Amino acid sequence: MAVATPRPPATPITKSTPAKHKRAAEGEVEWWVEPIRWFALVVFIAVPVFAHMMQPYAGRIVWTVVVASIPLFIVLVGYHRWRRICPLAFFAQIPVRLRRPGVKKASPWLQANYYYIPVAIFTVSLWLRLISTNGDGHAITAFFVLISLAALIFGAFYTGKTWCNYICPVSFIEKIYTEPHGLRETPNSQCTKCTACKNLCPDINEENGYWKEIGMKSKRFAYFLFPGLVFGFYFYYYLQAGRWSAYFDGRWTDDPMVIHYAFMPGYDAQTAGFFFLPVIPRAVASLATLAFCGLTSYFLLTQLERPIGNWVRRREPEADDPRVRHVMFSIAAFTAFTTFYTFAGAPTLWRAPWAVPHLFLIVVVLTATLFLARRLRRTQKTFAEETLAKNIIKRWEWTDIQPPRDLHEAFLIHTIRTRESAKGQTQVIEIYKDAVRETLANGFVTREEVQLLESLRSQLQIKKADHEKVMAALAEEERAMISDPSKQISAEKRLQLETYKRALENYLERVLAAEGDADDSFIIKLRAEYRVTKEEHAAVLDDLLGGAGGIATRLAEELGIIERTSHAINALEAEPSAAAHDLLKDLLRRRRVHAVDRLLRSLSFEPRDETSLIIRAGLCSNNRAQRQTAVEQLSAQIPPIVGERLTQSHRETVSKQAELTTLASALRVQTESVDPYVRAVALYVLAEQGGVDADILARLGTDEHELVRETAAHLKEQQGREPSAVGAHAGLSTVEKMIALRSAPIFSSLPPEGLAELGRASDEHEYAADEALCVQGESGNEVFILLAGGVNVLIGQGANARVVAEEKAGGFIGEMAVLDPAPRSATVVAKAG
Ligand code: SF4
Repeated sequence: MAVATPRPPATPITKSTPAKHKRAAEGEVEWWVEPIRWFALVVFIAVPVFAHMMQPYAGRIVWTVVVASIPLFIVLVGYHRWRRICPLAFFAQIPVRLRRPGVKKASPWLQANYYYIPVAIFTVSLWLRLISTNGDGHAITAFFVLISLAALIFGAFYTGKTWCNYICPVSFIEKIYTEPHGLRETPNSQCTKCTACKNLCPDINEENGYWKEIGMKSKRFAYFLFPGLVFGFYFYYYLQAGRWSAYFDGRWTDDPMVIHYAFMPGYDAQTAGFFFLPVIPRAVASLATLAFCGLTSYFLLTQLERPIGNWVRRREPEADDPRVRHVMFSIAAFTAFTTFYTFAGAPTLWRAPWAVPHLFLIVVVLTATLFLARRLRRTQKTFAEETLAKNIIKRWEWTDIQPPRDLHEAFLIHTIRTRESAKGQTQVIEIYKDAVRETLANGFVTREEVQLLESLRSQLQIKKADHEKVMAALAEEERAMISDPSKQISAEKRLQLETYKRALENYLERVLAAEGDADDSFIIKLRAEYRVTKEEHAAVLDDLLGGAGGIATRLAEELGIIERTSHAINALEAEPSAAAHDLLKDLLRRRRVHAVDRLLRSLSFEPRDETSLIIRAGLCSNNRAQRQTAVEQLSAQIPPIVGERLTQSHRETVSKQAELTTLASALRVQTESVDPYVRAVALYVLAEQGGVDADILARLGTDEHELVRETAAHLKEQQGREPSAVGAHAGLSTVEKMIALRSAPIFSSLPPEGLAELGRASDEHEYAADEALCVQGESGNEVFILLAGGVNVLIGQGANARVVAEEKAGGFIGEMAVLDPAPRSATVVAKAG
């Protein structure tokens, strides 16, 4: 009897399929934003192509239609939606999408003065329009290509949205037109992978950044300069030609020759820098106009700040400097917006039927007025109040009613219901305390601001004494936080660590679930992607592992696997050696090694580190005392809370295993292993021990893995026979073939997947006495494993044939055929009996 097997296949490689990254939680995005985003990108890409091919229409379409509609679009859709839609942002984010994000952070100077850079780039862009890109399709193409490339290159070197926050020439305009908050509240545009690229990030909370940066010099410069820049741009058309129609007739949209004389002294109406001083080159005249108008606007608004401030303080006695600055910013933004729409688009718009420009202007005026009214009313205190109220409503617990969209209404319902609930006022104070804690922790509102929110407290009917108690308790907590600097973090840092935590958790879950190899470099890459330091990583890991989530439990489970497999290995070692036992021990060792690796990797142990190697060797030992020492060493290296959890779990598993005194009881545990090969072989060995009952067979008969089902079915079939029939040669199961194959040295190191595949591809044959298994000189690629009886190995033909060797059950014939399919070197015939 022999099992003949064809040439073995290559060792199967198990690849762990990476689970899909969970999308990090972020502001819920409306369904229509994504299509618009793609549409905007298509338009943005089409613009340079169109401009290149359609010179006569390029300037008109680009400047009087596409660009002219952008500010109104931004105001109507809101800051955050625009941040998602902006095509330039798409280019800056390409390296992130390719998982090759930049890692550099903006310099401290840039962070403190960032408005100057986009304002300078914007001014240069306006100047370029006046001397070249206005009416030259090729120049428009070059400008769009260059700015897209700049965004892309910036994204490749700088982290997060550095381009969008510090460099992009539109970045300060989108803020001027939408701060402090949009016409309607929209989900924010925070990044899925936050790298804390910007303090007071506008994508996380635009209004927070606005109020906190309201005293910034560069912000004031940008706001006050902007209306003048806008006016100066259009005014130059008049200054150049001496008539406003030079702008409104739109001929400038098709004038590719300007750049040819822009740097030369002018000599006629066409080439004049100023109509009253033609000799000044256009490049100088236009730049001087932009600079003069911008600086005049800056100067005027600066001078107006004091009288307007006095007027505001007379009307609102509690008005402070930020309030006055806010009024000034609102005036500047309104002036810039209305100035822009007095001119922008007009050369094309007024060619349309009468109703179109009038309707458009009505929309513009309504939008600007509405925005100004909303904006002027807004105060820093309202923002603080609203932030705290939102955090109170977050604790909404009324399942019979959804919180209304209107914040005020929602707040009232919540307040009344909380007060009327069984827990009453105590609960109100608890909710208030939680909300204040969260509000302060986000960094959006200061303690001083919370102190000023009397109206909110009176709606909640919180007495001053209770409020003071809450603030005192929070101050205590804060003191604790002051002694722990890791907890004093900004909203951006918080988001960065939260998004990193999610990615790390995802990764750890994949590692714990994977049967294949995990990637060692992944965490290093992940840390670089999120710009997380080693210390921050350690803190996040502490949090993840010590939390009530599943990871700590699953790590403890890995220790359990190590202990259970070791116990079963020891039980098998105590028995006389047998082929099935050896296979099962191999499988258990493999499982133990995987569990050890997963455990160490999840705890971020460096695989080649000496301590890591010592712990690994200890955990992989069959000696319980050595494993115990390794667990203690491991616990000493990790956060105490996690260490305690692991030690505790280890103790529990050891004491449970101590109750399993027989091999059969240890094997029964292994029939529940997650490794199907362990389940199948443990079942087989358990059957050999006579420890299989109907329940186990019924359970494993419906197992998810084919090998386990097959083994259970095979054993069930054999249950009717004599016990000695288990393992007999008639009708071998795949597990039996695996056991037989593994005893051949050439297959002994094959992984179980490869053995099972080989086993399924193997056939059983029974040979009569003197029947040839193979003949000398004939080709063959089979290996024979003798399960019963014996064979003679003969060399030579006919009468000259002589027996050169004999093989008994358990022997192998033809191993060389696996490596070299040359003709057989001998004839093998079955012996009688
Ligand atoms: S701070 Fe974070 S969320 Fe804000 S832009 Fe930078 S990476 Fe994005």
